[in-house]
Amino acid sequence: MKRPELASLDGQHYDVVVIGAGALGCAAARQLAARNFRTLLVDRGDIAAGTSSRSSRMLYSGLGYLAARYPLWQMPFRPLDMLRRLRYTREVMQCRAELVEEMPGHLTRHRFFYPFRQGDRYPPWLVDIGFRLVEALGGWKVPLAYRRVSPAAAASTSALAQGLGGPLRSVGMFDEYMYAWAERICVDTALDAQARGATLRTYTAVTGLQRQGELWQVSFEERAPEASGHATVQARVVINAAGPWVDRVPGAGGECDTRVLGIKGVNVMVKLPDSYRGQGLEAFSSEHEPYYVFPWRDYHFIGPTETVFRDDPDNVRVLDSEIDYILAEANQLFPALRLSRADVRHCWCGVRPTSTLDGRETWMPVRLSEAPQRPNLLTLTGSTIMLHRHAARLIAKGVEQRLGKRGKAPKGLIAKPAVADADLARVIGEEHVVRLVDLVRRRLPDGLDPDLGRGRAEALSHIAAQALGWSQARREAELRHFEEDTARVYRTLDEVPVQPPRVPAKACSSL
Ligand SMILES: Cc1cc2nc3c(=O)[nH]c(=O)nc-3n(C[C@H](O)[C@H](O)[C@H](O)COP(=O)(O)OP(=O)(O)OC[C@H]3O[C@@H](n4cnc5c(N)ncnc54)[C@H](O)[C@@H]3O)c2cc1C
Repeated sequence: MKRPELASLDGQHYDVVVIGAGALGCAAARQLAARNFRTLLVDRGDIAAGTSSRSSRMLYSGLGYLAARYPLWQMPFRPLDMLRRLRYTREVMQCRAELVEEMPGHLTRHRFFYPFRQGDRYPPWLVDIGFRLVEALGGWKVPLAYRRVSPAAAASTSALAQGLGGPLRSVGMFDEYMYAWAERICVDTALDAQARGATLRTYTAVTGLQRQGELWQVSFEERAPEASGHATVQARVVINAAGPWVDRVPGAGGECDTRVLGIKGVNVMVKLPDSYRGQGLEAFSSEHEPYYVFPWRDYHFIGPTETVFRDDPDNVRVLDSEIDYILAEANQLFPALRLSRADVRHCWCGVRPTSTLDGRETWMPVRLSEAPQRPNLLTLTGSTIMLHRHAARLIAKGVEQRLGKRGKAPKGLIAKPAVADADLARVIGEEHVVRLVDLVRRRLPDGLDPDLGRGRAEALSHIAAQALGWSQARREAELRHFEEDTARVYRTLDEVPVQPPRVPAKACSSL
């Protein structure tokens, strides 16, 4: 479907306006449209250009959510916290099964390893129980295939396990999924929402929210290049799904009520030995934080860090100290690799939209909140990509409580399109491509290649120019914008001065 003109929205009346086309907003629009609510989904930029394109791209099994940060002996004295963790883990496992069933083309399965050492925070028997519990909570629908073996047995099946530094007590082995392409999960979910009747408009910033009688007046500003304009629509319910920006949406009440606590995370892409290809590692860092080696096509990325971030998420950047911390942790796990900044292909960071009740502490579960002075303005925080469908169901339930039931929840396969070159004009025309970067990074897989799509950007700019009627000047401007955006989101090797590996420095804060 073609992208609607902003003027065509002006004066329209919707049941629901969803702000933000990240994983969450796209899934919410899909749920709402399927249930027959007249739905408008808007984003100030492209689909999935926010946090949903900055993640660690992993469909977690949820073991980490069972891991409490307080001493183990305190567990029996915190039954409510444990119950909350169990429920959360069950939700995670159910969402994992749902995604494996309904979006299999968007996922890749990998063998992960978990090293056990003397003095670990969690003894092997407890981790064994944890894995079994996680599987049971998920109803054994998508097995983790967990088993714990001797270091020699693990090394005989995997070069990555062989590379682990000692002394090891044993090694856990299990199956995890990575998002083949998280951006495309969002795009295809948004397109499915549109096919079910939702209106989708990208590059449309919400600039104001005003309550008038029983309705919300939602004001928009055009953000597409070479275009300008404003529009106002009316909505019975507004969903604030602006991720880490929920408190910054004008008129959404964040100025007097903090609902999100941003947690910055950094990942670093490196080339590990070819024999490690496709295998991953889950471990704890020297700071007792979860630490991963994620398989990514022919490469791996390592991280993430976790630090509280209170600035505008638009300003988040990777720091040298964070790169050094991540590399040093990897060198502790795999001493023979001796990774240095020279091994870094690129790195990126993002801000997790974690829920908070007081602006200081994180609150783990997905949270749908509504301030009494702002009825029918529902704000969702704390969802991961993994939980986006669960969060969207919570939103749909919230809307149904206010507007009544009208239809059924959506079900069914969302296939990953095999985008052939001959098909690009259709993709550009029908999939809301506005800028070159949308096409390279979020409609085609090229943007997540090691060269970040730079190798194909010029060729794709000609195809986009023809499909969208760009002038030569606009095409060149789009190429410059693509480079600027790439440099904004990803730090590449040229900028990172080469330094020898060093021991870990404290970069993480405990949540
Ligand atoms: C380092 C890191 C690693 C992570 N790893 C994983 C992982 O492995 N697995 C996993 O499942 N999750 C992971 N996450 C979490 C996950 O990425 C996020 O929780 C998720 O993407 C949030 O989605 P969202 O839709 O809520 O927010 P976003 O994707 O940020 O979407 C919000 C949208 O709102 C838009 N917006 C903001 N203001 C306005 C406005 N005024 N008008 C219109 N639109 C507006 C933005 O442009 C943006 O597109 C990770 C996150 C980080 C930072």
